[in-house]
Amino acid sequence: MRIVVTGGAGFIGSHLTEALLSLGHKVVVIDNFITGSRKNLEHLGSSENLHIVEHDITKPIFLAETIDRIYHLASPASPIDYQKLPIQTLKVGALGTHNLLGMAKVQKARILMASTSEVYGDPEIHPQHEGYWGHVNPVGPRGCYDESKRFAEALVVAYRDYHNVDTRIIRIFNTYGPRMRLNDGRVVPAFISQALKGEDLSVYGDGTQTRSFCYVSDLVRGMIKVMEADYKDPINLGNPAEITIREFAEKIMALTGSQARLSFGPLPQDDPKRRQPDISRARSLLQWEPAVSLEEGLKKTIEWAKNNV
Ligand code: NAD
Ligand code: UDP
Repeated sequence: MRIVVTGGAGFIGSHLTEALLSLGHKVVVIDNFITGSRKNLEHLGSSENLHIVEHDITKPIFLAETIDRIYHLASPASPIDYQKLPIQTLKVGALGTHNLLGMAKVQKARILMASTSEVYGDPEIHPQHEGYWGHVNPVGPRGCYDESKRFAEALVVAYRDYHNVDTRIIRIFNTYGPRMRLNDGRVVPAFISQALKGEDLSVYGDGTQTRSFCYVSDLVRGMIKVMEADYKDPINLGNPAEITIREFAEKIMALTGSQARLSFGPLPQDDPKRRQPDISRARSLLQWEPAVSLEEGLKKTIEWAKNNV
């Protein structure tokens, strides 16, 4: 198949592109490199099956060739990035998603939109299942990202129901692995690079807030399963193994052999207190669940980071 990946030069997009190429597909990456980089695709060499188009998807784009599938991942994703780029973040969720849905409609292509656990906000139910509507502050520091993704989901559903576009929605929970930008502010690259540099680990709040971390290869396997399954409502993809941020910091120190200490700073406004995916839908519909343990995934990520700090 010929497959478009928007945001293909980013962290998750580059792993997805690699997986799709290895399955024998042709991939067209569309990216404006605002938070991603060509470097993330360099190791794939000059494959004739990979075509990279530099383009801001908030502006319309028409491809001459026939497209079978669209994975729509383009969006700033780390809190530091989207708070620095609030208008671009809202535009890519709204205008960018609109342009890609237009492409899907014209091309009669199937489109998968990468949504996020952030649509649940600071959740009042635990773990979070797809039927939960969320607890989001639209005017807080995370509003630009959360509402961009919530609007994008609504637009996808409108195109599905009004124009009969063949759509998929995934809600991705915290995912990590090689090629995350070490300075993107997210907790995994932040703690690993601090530990490798012998700096104290910057725990926000008292570290009792929780997250559940999924290794990128598990996520990519799930994304492809969702795309090829016949199911159009949102599906959570993530690893249900929940851990406090303090325990997570201690794990990074143990795995890196760091002698550093924990430093405690203020908890950012609206920081979700607990997050854990309920993946029963993915388990029953797709027979998908993560296979890589946190320890195994972190060891691979730390090895990669050692060569990139
Ligand atoms: P990333 O920042 O590494 O990748 C995003 C990519 O989108 C970058 O290459 C960036 O340049 C590109 N992009 C942004 N705006 C664009 C525009 N207007 N036009 C073209 N390209 C544009 O982030 P990531 O972690 O790889 O996230 C990828 C997707 O997965 C995002 O949609 C994000 O919201 C979603 N997601 C990620 C996580 C996670 O834990 N990594 C969790 C939930 C959801
Ligand atoms: N966090 C932290 N120290 C850091 C970066 C993040 O303690 O240097 C915390 C953050 O407050 C949040 C969790 O780690 O509770 C995950 O943050 P991240 O930015 O990775 O993603 P989020 O899930 O909040 O979008």
